[in-house]
Amino acid sequence: MPSLHDRLATVRARVDDAAHAAGRDPGEVRLLLATKTQDAGTVLAAIAAATDLAASRGDDGPVLIGENRVQELVAKAPALADLVAAGRVEVHMIGNLQRNKINQMLPTVTGLETVDTTALADALALRAVRAGRALDVMVQVNVSGEESKSGAEPAQAGALALHVAALDGLQLTGFMTIGARTDDEAAVRAGFARLRSIRDDVVASGAPGTGGARELSMGMSGDLGLAVAEGATIVRVGTGVFGARPTV
Ligand SMILES: *Cc1c(COP(=O)(O)O)cnc(C)c1O
Repeated sequence: MPSLHDRLATVRARVDDAAHAAGRDPGEVRLLLATKTQDAGTVLAAIAAATDLAASRGDDGPVLIGENRVQELVAKAPALADLVAAGRVEVHMIGNLQRNKINQMLPTVTGLETVDTTALADALALRAVRAGRALDVMVQVNVSGEESKSGAEPAQAGALALHVAALDGLQLTGFMTIGARTDDEAAVRAGFARLRSIRDDVVASGAPGTGGARELSMGMSGDLGLAVAEGATIVRVGTGVFGARPTV
């Protein structure tokens, strides 16, 4: 079985190839390790492998990891605390967040990628201000329109982003989506292009707080090439690095 290190290198090479093919600088695209269901030891091993790989490329930025559930975030937080405090690791919440879990989540994350309603944004902003911090957030958009997916509707995403950008306690850093679940590459790609155009419109608006909203978190193990072609700045990889997850 290939090691974590080998798998990570393979995924990184796929991202680099896609970036080159699109005429982009591969350094513009960061990997986020989607660590759901992985135990803390495996997460630490993956962080070490990612740190080595990045160093071999002259990249000494933090390693990005993402969790989907507050319960898992809280369980793994002690193992990650030193690395986060040292700025070696950034932890993003990439799953659906219930409002009653905000206080539990806040101390364990550096950012949240799944703001999809003004109510959630307002609740987060209030808690972040109370905690004396500015939380990095992205607006999640449901570009595929699939009912099973969370995310703001594309037509409403721009207004939501402007709302978020104006709130104390939140720092809008960009936009996130989960690609359409289909073999139709053109459809998947059109969804990613949609997210990019939403981002471009919001940044071009010049509204306060939107200038730094440049991140596009899109693409996973199966569709990262298409996402990079459409401008992804963060691709979120789970199975490509860790292997298949147990089905629950
Ligand atoms: C699990 C997950 C990923 C990674 O998916 P893989 O197909 O395993 O690479 C990315 N984004 C989100 C939101 C996820 O839940």
